[in-house]
Amino acid sequence: MINRKVINETGWNLDNSYSRLPNLFFSNVNLNPVTSPNLIILNHSLATSLGLNIQYLESNNGIAIFAGNRAPEGSLPIAQAYAGHQFGHFTKLGDGRAILLGEQITPQNNRFDIQLKGSGRTPYSRRGDGRATLGPMLREYIISEAMYGLGIPTTRSLAIVTTGESVIRETELPGSILTRVASSHIRVGTFEYASQWSTVEDLKALADYTIKRHYPYIDSDENPYILLLQEVIKRQASLIAKWQLVGFIHGVMNTDNMTISGETIDYGPCAFMDKYDPATVFSSIDTHGRYAYGNQPTIAAWNLARFAETLLPLLDGNQERAIEVAQKEIADFHKLYRNNWIKGIRAKLGIFNEESQDEFLIEELLNLMNKYNADYTNTFLALTFDTLDNMDLFNTEEFKNWYKKWQERLDRQQESKDSSHQLMKDSNPALIPRNHRVEEALEVAVEKEDYTVMERLLHALSKPYAHLPEQADYSTLPPPSNEPYRTFCGT
Ligand code: AMP
Ligand code: MG
Repeated sequence: MINRKVINETGWNLDNSYSRLPNLFFSNVNLNPVTSPNLIILNHSLATSLGLNIQYLESNNGIAIFAGNRAPEGSLPIAQAYAGHQFGHFTKLGDGRAILLGEQITPQNNRFDIQLKGSGRTPYSRRGDGRATLGPMLREYIISEAMYGLGIPTTRSLAIVTTGESVIRETELPGSILTRVASSHIRVGTFEYASQWSTVEDLKALADYTIKRHYPYIDSDENPYILLLQEVIKRQASLIAKWQLVGFIHGVMNTDNMTISGETIDYGPCAFMDKYDPATVFSSIDTHGRYAYGNQPTIAAWNLARFAETLLPLLDGNQERAIEVAQKEIADFHKLYRNNWIKGIRAKLGIFNEESQDEFLIEELLNLMNKYNADYTNTFLALTFDTLDNMDLFNTEEFKNWYKKWQERLDRQQESKDSSHQLMKDSNPALIPRNHRVEEALEVAVEKEDYTVMERLLHALSKPYAHLPEQADYSTLPPPSNEPYRTFCGT
């Protein structure tokens, strides 16, 4: 009786359906306790939506769970096996520094993975220490929650603890664990792992599990695996369009960092583009610009082709026909992506209906932004609020001509200027997590244990379409620098 009451009070309601897949897809693991955990941040609204009790999560027992010192009721800790193409090269991977505690079934009956990231070694760790440091975990927390605020499908961040232990990188850094929440952690790389190392029956078990979990509406009368491929392509086309529309650069779009659910995952060297330039790359290891802003749709299609290859034995008994089916579906990606993107950029310009010339109007603006080094987010913000005085771009004749064409375009649609303005407000964020503001928040957090700057930033980022006065401060650009901004695959 007492036990049951405790379960109800904590709110944990875990299932472990992934553990019921064939054994080769995961390893059962023990937790790796840490010496003195300290709760740095807890996501109250996310905790509540998961049905978890905040007071309990903030207690020593709750913190012990975020630290990997204690498993929550109903947990069966596992590390997941996967593979992936990293910068084009196929490798065996797996959760080398993460543990899946289980799947929380929420009061609304939704299922979310609860994963500890930075929780110590697993059978997949290879040479790594399985640990994570505070800066990169805070960075993932900030960017993933910013993405959520922007309305972009993403894994989320429930909590961060420091471990009280140092982690050796180039220097000694504070160890930290992020509790990540995801619709699932099934990746393109999970299917690549199955395709390479499992039987077709096991691959089918993974595909059936994925359909049931993420695409339960798929009609199994037809070949369900063709429909699975179509649906994954659709979700990725929608996701990547959303990234492009806000200037998000993932930075490491390896196939192990692409989910089957269509959520953004694995925030490593990601960052938001400031001045509009399709060639923008931030990641220090992306020396050839494989994952540059403008390449993201092409890379997504490449990753999806790897996904389609894994499904071939399920698409058709005849390999040639299976390849034909896969190619046809992959060929659709660009059209789907482009349709999503055009729709989104029309909205950013306050355009409701479709005209064939819209693409030219849009391309012309983007070319001018590129030519005059205009900040991507702030250009659309200035167009929204008609504050066309603060950028070089706006003083050029070329822009003035474009502006006239744009106004004529708006005049040709039935909707009023007011509704156009509202559409633009709803489609153009007041702020993005600007690199210098993120760095500033991380610096005082890591060096001074002062989390107030980060909390203010997170608060401003939570409602980017509200256009509140206190958000204005976050749209200012960093002072000009000769050094390009660089990000690192922080571990
Ligand atoms: P990521 O860069 O987070 O996408 O990770 C790529 C691969 O490297 C995954 O298999 C991770 O589990 C593994 N990995 C990253 N950091 C560590 C670490 N500190 N210890 C062990 N494995 C790691
Ligand atoms: Mg990864």
